[in-house]
Amino acid sequence: MPLTAASPAASFRLRARWVVPVDAAPIERGEVVVEDGRIVSVGRADHRDTAVAADVRDFGAAALLPGFVNVHCHLEYTVFRGLLEEMAFFPWIRALTALKAHLTEDDWVASATLGAAEMLRAGVTTVGECADAGASLEALLAAGLRGVVFREVFGIGSPEPADAIVAELAGRVAAMRARVRESGAEDRVRVGISPHAPYTVPAPLFPALAAYANRAGLRQAIHVAESPAEVALISAGAGPFAEMFARRNIPWQPANVSPARYVADAGGFDAPTLAVHCVHTDADDAARFARRGVSVAHCPKSNGKLGAGVAPLRTLLDAGLAVGLGTDSVASNNAVDLFEEMRAAVYGARAREQDTGALTANEALHLATLGGATALGLDGEIGSLAPGKRADLCVVRLDGLHHAPAEDDPVAALVYSARASDVALTMAGGRVLYDAGAFPALDVPALRARAGAARAHLREAMRAA
Ligand SMILES: [Zn+2]
Repeated sequence: MPLTAASPAASFRLRARWVVPVDAAPIERGEVVVEDGRIVSVGRADHRDTAVAADVRDFGAAALLPGFVNVHCHLEYTVFRGLLEEMAFFPWIRALTALKAHLTEDDWVASATLGAAEMLRAGVTTVGECADAGASLEALLAAGLRGVVFREVFGIGSPEPADAIVAELAGRVAAMRARVRESGAEDRVRVGISPHAPYTVPAPLFPALAAYANRAGLRQAIHVAESPAEVALISAGAGPFAEMFARRNIPWQPANVSPARYVADAGGFDAPTLAVHCVHTDADDAARFARRGVSVAHCPKSNGKLGAGVAPLRTLLDAGLAVGLGTDSVASNNAVDLFEEMRAAVYGARAREQDTGALTANEALHLATLGGATALGLDGEIGSLAPGKRADLCVVRLDGLHHAPAEDDPVAALVYSARASDVALTMAGGRVLYDAGAFPALDVPALRARAGAARAHLREAMRAA
């Protein structure tokens, strides 16, 4: 049986009613041939040999497509799901920050690995993961996910000078890279850095971090222009962040510009950067991103839930930017489901522009796959089903009642009616990581129990506060 996590070098053929390569038209009764972890061919299935070939797996009424690329998440925060509800952005992030102190290293790893299992269950094969505790690297290594782990760095309120903060970060990055090497996972896990946000990173630290990223060959992810509270701080020195800074005697000069321009002027985008959220941006900001090669993580569900706003997705795409979809953490989502994210992107763009042409179903599917791969700098390896690319794919069942009788248009079915629970198989680099309820690489019941214990501890801490 070649379809196991233990035999990544196997060669086999996967068939389905529809193969959706994303960079080409859907193929009816299609087949993808995988060899040594890479895609060898994509085309029509030759049904003459179906009955005899042992290496063929035919999924029938299903679509076979590239694994989803979730460009922005925080796997470590899985344990916070449903804990911080009905809150505006500022109190939400303050409560989250306070609760982090109550988790142990083991809690963080269990939380992140449980989150990785949820990604696989939802057909996600690649993540752009922003990590504070550093536990998500272990989660990616254990789960078999591909991705970039952006190590977060903060600085506002810290007495340390910029060069000391950079040196400390460089030590953490070196340890993470060594861990990836010793695990033999260099082909699927990369390390990056995340200067967290304009309200947590002082302006002079941005260029120091970008210079370090360039020296070390790292990509960056920066949360920018997410909430009205952030805009008020940057553009007017007002609002809840400014009030908190005043209480703590943290000096702050309003820049009277947009958050994106503020980070750009500081030199924050002078290294390859994924700008996360970009809700409060305009055509000038989009042109600014384009000049610097900045890509965008669009997180429509999280932005809606936290009352942040609706990003000008059409404007960002029209500027030629590489844009991918991100779930953000389940502390603000609450479910990892890229189908929901595609729908939120379509509905948000159309509602904002009052135009059904503001985002098509094909564009939404592109954002969730190849667009995301491009935004992370991985489009040469993943994001579409094409010969030579890594065998990162998922199989989505199209035989549910909620699809009937739409299974004759696979893109419409995937974007408008599919759910994460329709995912039947998830594979990265030719390794089966999720298969009809089974996770060959993970002990999910043990992870759930461990995360449940951490959660009980968090509830106690909240009651005591
Ligand atoms: Zn985030």
